Amino acid sequence: MNLWLDAVADRGLVHAVFSETRYWGSDGLSLLDEAPTAARPISISGTCRHCGADTWGYTACEDCGDVRCRSCHRCGCGAPRPATWVCTVCWLEKGKAQFRTATSTACLECERPPAP
Ligand SMILES: [Zn+2]
Ligand SMILES: [Zn+2]
Ligand SMILES: [Zn+2]
Repeated sequence: MNLWLDAVADRGLVHAVFSETRYWGSDGLSLLDEAPTAARPISISGTCRHCGADTWGYTACEDCGDVRCRSCHRCGCGAPRPATWVCTVCWLEKGKAQFRTATSTACLECERPPAP
């Protein structure tokens, strides 16, 4: 199993490359008579949640979606969540207690269904 191919498939990206110049040269499709080059992966960057270093790479962890840090060699797995984070509905910074679970993106206020 190729993890890199998996990562690309996860994002639903398909790269197709054609060369018009070679095509009009009537030598057949250039893709067929040239060694295939690897599709350029998309680089991901961020900040390490363990040591705070700038991170970048081409593959993200399947579990946390973070790139492995080049300084401490850890991805976001097991990193402590910050004490506060921003609700994606009201965009207010709220404390941990204001979110139902560690993976909630909306605060309790915004998650609560409207009163009947
Ligand atoms: Zn790090
Ligand atoms: Zn991870
Ligand atoms: Zn909210």
